[in-house]
Amino acid sequence: MKKDFKPTLLDFGSVQIYLARHFGFCYGVENAIEIAFKTIDENPGKRIFLLSEMIHNPKVNADLTERGIRFLQEPNGKQLIPFEELTKDDIVIIPAFGTTLAIEERLKAIGISVEKYNTTCPFVEKVWNRSEQIAKKNYTVIVHGKPTHEETRATFSHAAANTATVVVNDMADAIQLSKYITGEKPLDEFYAEFKGRYSENFDVTKDLQRIGVVNQTTMLASDTQAIADFLKTVMVSTHELTEANTEERFAETRDTLCYATNDNQSAVYGLLQQDANFAIVVGGYNSSNTSHLVELCEEKLPTYFINDAGKIISDKTIRHFDFHHKEELISNDYMPEKDPVKILITSGASCPDALVEEVIRKIVSFFKPAISVDKVVESFA
Ligand code: SF4
Repeated sequence: MKKDFKPTLLDFGSVQIYLARHFGFCYGVENAIEIAFKTIDENPGKRIFLLSEMIHNPKVNADLTERGIRFLQEPNGKQLIPFEELTKDDIVIIPAFGTTLAIEERLKAIGISVEKYNTTCPFVEKVWNRSEQIAKKNYTVIVHGKPTHEETRATFSHAAANTATVVVNDMADAIQLSKYITGEKPLDEFYAEFKGRYSENFDVTKDLQRIGVVNQTTMLASDTQAIADFLKTVMVSTHELTEANTEERFAETRDTLCYATNDNQSAVYGLLQQDANFAIVVGGYNSSNTSHLVELCEEKLPTYFINDAGKIISDKTIRHFDFHHKEELISNDYMPEKDPVKILITSGASCPDALVEEVIRKIVSFFKPAISVDKVVESFA
C-alpha cells in the first residue's frame, strides 16, 4: 500500500504546527528499551551493564542509569569500565546497534551470555545477513556509514569476518575509493587514505574487483543510493560491462535502510511541501538518524535541532545544536512576527514522543491559542 507522508496540521490559530506523519521511536528502540527495563525488573541484586548507550537519547539513558544500569563504553568506543572488572555473574545488554564480534568474544570469554540480553535490532541484523550473502559470492563489502558509529563498527566487524570490507563516510570518500578502481591513483596510497577503515589483509589489487554496498541503517537514503549508483557506474565503465553482466562486478543490495529511517525521512520530504517559517527537529545530539532529518530541513528553511523543550528558552531565544560543528548555539528572534506562525516539527527514531509533546506545549504557551493543546489532541483521539 502506498504510504501517506502528508503531515498533520495542529491548528492553534495564531500558531500552526505541522507534525511529520512519521516521527520518533522505531521498533528497534522500543524493543531495546523494553528488554532493558525487563532485565532490571527480573534481576534484582545483579550488576547490569549496558555495552554503551542504549539509544542516542540522553533522557532514556538517564532513566536507565537511575535504575542502576552502568555503561561500559562511550558511544565512540572509549572504555568507561574495564572488561576486567566484569564477572560471569554480571549481565551485559547489547544495544540496538549491535556490537563487534571481538567484543562478543571478549564477553563470552568472561562467561557472560551475549544472546540472552541482546537487543540488536533485526534491521541491523538484516544488513549483516546481506553482507554475508554478498561475501559468499566473493564480493567486497563497502559499508556506507560513519566510521566511528557503533552500528558501523559492528557491521564492519561482521562483514569483515566473511570478506574484504571498507567503510566510506560519504560521496567524497566514494569518489576517492573509485580512483583505486579505475587506476587513477597509485594503489599503495589506499592504505594511508583509508587507514582504520579497511579489513585486515585488504588487498587493493584484487579486493576492488567485485563490490557491493550496504549501509548503516540510519544514513540518508538518498546519499546511500547516490553512492551505490556512482560506484556501479564506475564498475560498469571500468570493466566495460553491460546491463546483462553488471552483476559479475557489482552486487545489487538495495533496501538496507530500516523502515523507520525510510519513513521518517520520507515524512520530512512530505513536511517540507508546506510553507513554513522554521522547523524544529527533536532528538539526541549524537543521533545519526536525527541529524539526517535536520540536514533535509536545513536545505529549505531555518532549522533548530534541540534535545528537549528546555532548549526553547523563550519566544525570543532558542538554544540549539549545530551538528556540523558539534556545538550548541543560541539564536535570538527565531520566532517571526507573523500571524499565524507556521512551524514544522519532527523527531528522530530514538526520541520519546513525550519530548515532542513538551516542545509543542512550550511553543503554544507563547501564543494566545484559539484552542488549547488538549482540545486539539482530543480531536485526533
Ligand atoms: S532506526 Fe531502524 S535499524 Fe535503528 S534501531 Fe530503529 S528500527 Fe532498528
